[in-house]
Amino acid sequence: MKTPYFIIDADLIEANLKVLRGVIDRTGCKILLAQKCFSCYGLYPLISQYLHGMTASGLYEARLCHEEMPKGEIHIFSPAFHEDEIDEIFKICDHIVFNSPRQLALYGQRAKDAGLQVGLRINPECSTQEGHAIYDPCAPGSRLGTTLLQFESQIADNLSLLDGLHFHTLCEQNSDDLETTLDAVIEKFGKYLPHMKWINFGGGHHITREDYDIPRLECCIRRMQTEYGLEVYLEPGEAVALNAGELHCCVMEVQPTGTDGIQNVIVDTSAACHMPDVIEMPYTPPILFPPIGDSKSGSYRLGGPTCLSGDIIGTYQFAQELHEGDEIVFGDMAIYSMVKTNTFNGMPLPNIYIRRGENLTLWKQFCYDDFKSRI
Ligand SMILES: *Cc1c(COP(=O)(O)O)cnc(C)c1O
Repeated sequence: MKTPYFIIDADLIEANLKVLRGVIDRTGCKILLAQKCFSCYGLYPLISQYLHGMTASGLYEARLCHEEMPKGEIHIFSPAFHEDEIDEIFKICDHIVFNSPRQLALYGQRAKDAGLQVGLRINPECSTQEGHAIYDPCAPGSRLGTTLLQFESQIADNLSLLDGLHFHTLCEQNSDDLETTLDAVIEKFGKYLPHMKWINFGGGHHITREDYDIPRLECCIRRMQTEYGLEVYLEPGEAVALNAGELHCCVMEVQPTGTDGIQNVIVDTSAACHMPDVIEMPYTPPILFPPIGDSKSGSYRLGGPTCLSGDIIGTYQFAQELHEGDEIVFGDMAIYSMVKTNTFNGMPLPNIYIRRGENLTLWKQFCYDDFKSRI
């Protein structure tokens, strides 16, 4: 198998889906996959056995689930919709969530006439995360979501158009932060909730992480169901595919120890091209193989073969020395990876395999034309 390549483990995805299904079965909420995190549609038939559907960030993602998902609801949210896409969106989506009073005024009535449920994304102005400011839609000056001030001054006329409210404020967070957010939503928008049929809690719920407090999540869901009679939607991305993917690469060169005491290692995968979140977020991806160890064999800084100085995946210590030709396997590579790859520097795209039990199937093979056709 030619490196670099991704392996998606369908069994591990299914294990995540079973956890999510437990929440559905115990509470009666509805859970959708946020495709922007994971859109490998080879897994859509499996996913649709457990979840209620999918959510899309725009027409292309909506089309993808329309074409590839055997059954289920299609929801769509975008900060702004294009007039030349809106009719096709109306044809294939069941729910549409607008970001602003202006977008609701522009398209809300047409969406209703086309038979869609209409929602508005609200901004409860309640930041619960530290560290990742670019993932905080509640940060001051955010363009995402309608604040209470905007809502009260501009929505009153269009309130009858709304079937539901949507908020998305979390990123890789636990249910205590959801609880805090929900308090803010109720404090600010509570008086409008009795007019609604549903509320969508957005994504960022790390439900399938080991330390996630599921009973507390279920309390949040039941609170909205019983106090306001609302249907509750969740639309996680990461929780569906968490820890269910690998990225395999190969060591191309091990350089001598540098002035900072670390050996640079060139691998045939790239942070910038194949796992851009490593740089954008930033984070250091876990390594599944070779075994991580103490510092006996020194520290290795793994970097890609691109011209970008900052194309650094991370610095690691292994149980044994690294050598040219060694394979390295990064973990948790199903989320926000394949959907973000690019061919900067003419880097080849990693092929994608799907593992199911003992079987490994080549799902997608990329070549030079994938680079050329985009330019
Ligand atoms: C990104 C996003 C999600 C999914 O978030 P995860 O962190 O992957 O769970 C859901 N809804 C909206 C509106 C989003 O922008």
